[in-house]
Amino acid sequence: MLKPISAPTPRSVLKEVYGYDAFRAAQEAAIDRIVAGEHVVLVMPTGGGKSICYQIPALVRPGVGIVVSPLIALMQDQVESLKQLGVKAAFMNSTVSMEDQRETRRMVESGELDLLYVAPERLMKSSFLDWITSQQIALLAVDEAHCISQWGHDFRPEYRRISEVRDRIPHVPCIAVTATADRPTQLEILQQLDLPDEALTVTGFDRPNIRYSVEVQSSGRKQLMRFLDRHEGEAGIVYCLSRNKVEKTAAFLKEQGLDALPYHAGLPAATREANQQRFLLEEGVVMVATVAFGMGIDKPNVRFVAHLDIPRSPEAYYQETGRAGRDDLPSEAWLLYSLQSVVMARKLMESNGKEGQHKWTERHKMDAMVGFCETAACRRSVLLKYFGQPADAKCGNCDTCLHPVETWDATEAAQKVMSAIHRTGQRWGQAHIVSVLRGEETEKITRSGHDRLPTFGVGENRSTNEWRSVIRQLVAQDLIRVDVTGYGGLRLSPACGPVLKGEDEVHLRVDPDPPKSSRSRKGRTTQPAIDTTPAGQERFEALRALRLELARDQGVPPYVIFSDKTLTEMSERVPTTLDDLLAISGIGAVKRDRYGQQFLDKLAELPV
Ligand code: ADP
Ligand code: ZN
Repeated sequence: MLKPISAPTPRSVLKEVYGYDAFRAAQEAAIDRIVAGEHVVLVMPTGGGKSICYQIPALVRPGVGIVVSPLIALMQDQVESLKQLGVKAAFMNSTVSMEDQRETRRMVESGELDLLYVAPERLMKSSFLDWITSQQIALLAVDEAHCISQWGHDFRPEYRRISEVRDRIPHVPCIAVTATADRPTQLEILQQLDLPDEALTVTGFDRPNIRYSVEVQSSGRKQLMRFLDRHEGEAGIVYCLSRNKVEKTAAFLKEQGLDALPYHAGLPAATREANQQRFLLEEGVVMVATVAFGMGIDKPNVRFVAHLDIPRSPEAYYQETGRAGRDDLPSEAWLLYSLQSVVMARKLMESNGKEGQHKWTERHKMDAMVGFCETAACRRSVLLKYFGQPADAKCGNCDTCLHPVETWDATEAAQKVMSAIHRTGQRWGQAHIVSVLRGEETEKITRSGHDRLPTFGVGENRSTNEWRSVIRQLVAQDLIRVDVTGYGGLRLSPACGPVLKGEDEVHLRVDPDPPKSSRSRKGRTTQPAIDTTPAGQERFEALRALRLELARDQGVPPYVIFSDKTLTEMSERVPTTLDDLLAISGIGAVKRDRYGQQFLDKLAELPV
């Protein structure tokens, strides 16, 4: 990096290199501790800004900072971003040529390199370990530190051996960072890396810039299109449970004129890689994917994550939706929810062969996820409380806060459903039960003689959709159950007794109609350009196009040149001199010199 005249401090590096004015709360404390030579384990949500917590101390302390990172894509992205800032950074993994490796070694030995990213396998090679530990090391950073834990969801055996490195350099400050570590995982990270309890810093889970909403499925694809209309031209991920659904949905979106690509483990590796690259390198690509996609995707301007099937747990949901809005700009997490997808998910769970405790835990997590979908309370508060974090009753940025849901006393309706299920022998599916309640003379009804039951027609006053909504919510509350192994027959659960006897009340939500929102192409809710005047929009789009052009020339993702936030500020404040640019978030001296003039020229061409 460019050495300023006076010794760099964390604050001066933040401003001069990164172009940011202030640290976020937990960053400063962590950085100060590392700079002072202490150890830190930092659990901070995605987008919280973990990277600079090890990058800045590496720039301030003498020697090279070693960063252990599990994925090649992550390393490349980070190193490219650092190079764009003028920081001397390199990575070592199986993809690097011998010649480049020699050059990197030379830079480390001469003290020129600030940050070296390495794959764990490489670090553990004894020749490499002998060499690196004989060099001056500023710090040892462990990225995605949950990979060290058998409790974590992404255990990597080679991460276990990082403890051997710690043994060799016990006095070098160590910083382990992760976005997803529950209590057992946190403890295991501490223990594996032999770090003191005081090293642990856990910040909250909240992602305030993500707006959560859940829609009950009715027209499916129409609902999806209505949602995507709000995000025209923006990048996002649409998650589906099965490969087949991924393929079909991607094809459908393409027909609708969207730049949509499929991604799942069944595609050839080359296709997967090419699709991932397009998602990263271009603007506005919609990736339709199974959960195989996402790990190691650091793209900060993912504006939405949509789920067409219910995720298996709140943990999975939090992690998948967390890929939206790393850049802190408004983003959306949108879930399409149906009883059918719950039944499908439960079926998968039943058939996975797990037994006992495992099965119980999985069921419990799925139930929590269903509870999240069915709640009439603030979604964010439900999610945060699940993770053990106290939360305000209302966040103001989720569907239930923005459009409060009414609830009604559904005790009598529940009793009618239960009675219809009971009297028909606890083996008929939802459609038939609704027909019985509504008194419909279908062929099945006459054949089974269910038109002679006392419950026949007792629910004439409600529509089919209303009864479906009641049944779905009763299943969600485990008052009735769906036979997931057979043909979807409904039966009573042991918990329904008190309701049938009138001892317990049942309260259900009134399913809101899906928002009728416009196909007006201007109605983006998360458009990052806050300046919504036509001229402001035009400036933002023009700057975005320039960024893409510059990125293509270099073969790098656009976001490593400037973030959306930087472009937004530029289009609002319309700087006219190179020094004006330094006042904009994300522009330090190197980026001002490298790109400033081109962006100023572009702005000068446009109407103010
Ligand atoms: P994480 O690894 O925790 O998901 P990153 O380190 O990728 O998050 O940071 C997310 C985004 O926030 C990046 O674009 C980063 O440059 C930006 N950022 C980090 N710290 C600050 C800060 N103090 N001020 C402004 N932007 C910041
Ligand atoms: Zn809310």
